[in-house]
Amino acid sequence: MKTLVMRALSLGFLLSGVVVLATQQAKEPPLEKPVKLAEGVWIRQSNDIGKFGCNIGWIEFSDFVVVIDTAFPLGAEEALKHIKETTKGKPIKYAIVTHYHADHSFGTGAFAKEGATIVAHENARIEYLSKNVEKYTAAAKTDEAHARYLPYAPNLTFTDQFILDDGKRRAEVRYFGHAHTTGCIFTWLPKEKVVFTGDACVNGPFNYMGDSDSKSWIEVLAKVEALGAEQVGPGHSAPGKADVVKTQKQYFVELREQVGKLVKEGKTLDEVRKAVDIPMWKAWTGEQKMSLENINHVFKELSK
Ligand SMILES: [Zn+2]
Repeated sequence: MKTLVMRALSLGFLLSGVVVLATQQAKEPPLEKPVKLAEGVWIRQSNDIGKFGCNIGWIEFSDFVVVIDTAFPLGAEEALKHIKETTKGKPIKYAIVTHYHADHSFGTGAFAKEGATIVAHENARIEYLSKNVEKYTAAAKTDEAHARYLPYAPNLTFTDQFILDDGKRRAEVRYFGHAHTTGCIFTWLPKEKVVFTGDACVNGPFNYMGDSDSKSWIEVLAKVEALGAEQVGPGHSAPGKADVVKTQKQYFVELREQVGKLVKEGKTLDEVRKAVDIPMWKAWTGEQKMSLENINHVFKELSK
């Protein structure tokens, strides 16, 4: 456990806001078995973010496989075993990176080594190049799994949407605007009614808001809701039904309402931190205390 937490902490330096989540998560063992969301559509939930990184999804097309998110190198290697087992070794043609954060994008090298093209929003590629390369190189000096690969930036980018359709399966990779980061993308399967969301929608207390615009994030989630997904593959924690997106959006709506009201009343950050209380968030996440980091972020946004 100690080793695990130490590792989470050292990676935490790279991830800034994710460190708290990583140490919380290390209490639970990773969910080793992939969950089948529809025929040929899978998600592997990672409960040890500091070690493995984010959840990884994959979609089987007729002749190839498309992966959603690459996690950390260790998470990528674990997922690769499951991907090969569940798809009878079909080649991985694309690995889609939902956004630049290390726990989603540091495993790109493992998928590139398998011959996959690494797909991301153009903003995520820019962010990867400016924020990740040095951090990856530093991590590779102390972490064996990182040292097995080189930092590998997304090499196929888009700005609006990217559609894969082989006649049997259709996946629409969509961009709806600034959410958790400026380059968050969603993979929508219209026939299976499954959406993979990255960290723009998580299922629990995993919202890092440091790169976000909370107003725009709510608008993005409204567009995701409008897709009409029946199943949601989140960036962290368990897959769920449509209500996961609704609940995620509701949290930001209530957070902005409460913080906004207190800011208008002239309350200080300290007073706001003490006053904000969102019962639906506590019920959803099982947390006893509100996320002060999230309150700080929204206070900063609304005090401008
Ligand atoms: Zn993230």
